[in-house]
Amino acid sequence: MQIQFVGADRTVTGSMHHLIIDGKNFLLDCGLYQGKRKEAFDINKNFDLFKPKDIDAVILSHAHIDHLGNIPTLVKNGFEGPVYCTNATKDLAAVMLKDSAHIQEKDVEFVNKKRKKQGKNLFEPLYTTSDADNVLPLLTGKNYNEECEIDSGITVRFYDAGHILGSAITLFTIKENGRLINLGFSGDLGRPNLPILKDPEKIPDVDFFICESTYGGRFHDNIEGTNAKLAEVINRAISRKSKIIIPAFSLERTQELVYAFHKIFESSKAQRIPIYVDSPLSTNATKVFREHPECFDEDTIQFMKKYEDPFGFNKLTYITDVEDSKRLNDLEGPMVIMSASGMAETGRILHHLANNIENEKNIILMVGYCAENTLGRKLIEKEKVVKIFGEEYQVRAEVVVMNSLSAHADSNELTNYCSGFDRNKMKNIFLVHGDYDQQQKFSERLKSIGFEKISIPARGDVFQI
Ligand SMILES: [Zn+2]
Ligand SMILES: [Zn+2]
Repeated sequence: MQIQFVGADRTVTGSMHHLIIDGKNFLLDCGLYQGKRKEAFDINKNFDLFKPKDIDAVILSHAHIDHLGNIPTLVKNGFEGPVYCTNATKDLAAVMLKDSAHIQEKDVEFVNKKRKKQGKNLFEPLYTTSDADNVLPLLTGKNYNEECEIDSGITVRFYDAGHILGSAITLFTIKENGRLINLGFSGDLGRPNLPILKDPEKIPDVDFFICESTYGGRFHDNIEGTNAKLAEVINRAISRKSKIIIPAFSLERTQELVYAFHKIFESSKAQRIPIYVDSPLSTNATKVFREHPECFDEDTIQFMKKYEDPFGFNKLTYITDVEDSKRLNDLEGPMVIMSASGMAETGRILHHLANNIENEKNIILMVGYCAENTLGRKLIEKEKVVKIFGEEYQVRAEVVVMNSLSAHADSNELTNYCSGFDRNKMKNIFLVHGDYDQQQKFSERLKSIGFEKISIPARGDVFQI
């Protein structure tokens, strides 16, 4: 049996690992590599380390684009096997893939407009909406903890990863030549006490563990103070009649915030003000949340007994229509406008920022990770002047930064999770989905608690196991 590391190696994007067992081929995740346009396009388009038609099945950890976003390209190139995932991931995948295809199409349209003027040949999108549609019949949903035989002698079982709705830690049990191998894959590991979700579940002891390491050497703020801080921001907005503008990821962060505001209003920690979720993708993702209460934690279930819908309440409005979105401009604060993208790179959030950033009354609330060189990162770093749609804007609004809502385990939480494994049984821990410096720090921590063999594979590395 072999593991070939294909993506998210010494980096955080493009999760993809290739298992070869007895001549059969399986992919753990088939994520989109996100980075500079040309480089990303080439990496995503060409599967240079294996042939898509040789893959027998994909096992998908969760519905983030860096984990599932390249399945349409895989299908376009000949893959026709099942894609195993949890039931919630299956429903979210449909929503996320359609959106991703739409972005690919728009992106190429934009590039081609320039190329046409320059007389250059035109590009094709990486994949289209109809390519994304072709993935849907392959998605095979499973319950958590349900044993599923993906091939003779190979079973897969999903455990809750507590990262986003439907996210899974995968356990493989493999019978090969009379020996039994247990292999675990963390997917993206969540954190204890995140809103809505159950805590990451412990899996049985394994011989090999492929572990994410995004925050292998960094630490988050406590989750506990989040709602109090949000209530404080709302109260400040009420006294100043502010608009609170929040760039938020459509999947998970938006639902967490909506639920947090619901709780704050019900407990009278702040007076109820209008909340607008202005994003078709967020609206569609929230529908999927409502259909999967089996993923909710006890706190959310109890809340639902009293107030029914955690994601719906008086004065909360979901907006999909562009004209309705534009109308938000004419309204007076206090109010909250939440919109995508989370890093403030694209989408309707740019219009809301442009319209509100120069008014010192307003508040921009940053609640998520923002990559370098994004508008979101510039706001977090409190730059005084930023460019939106190519024009300069003075940042006069108050910028509030909250680091407590990360959906990834931090260094302590990752280490705690791994400390549950039997050191004697564990033959190797492979670190993936992290920048190299974070991985080295995490590797040191794992060694300090008694794990002997830790590997940090580079792209293309193959391990016999
Ligand atoms: Zn993720
Ligand atoms: Zn990820």
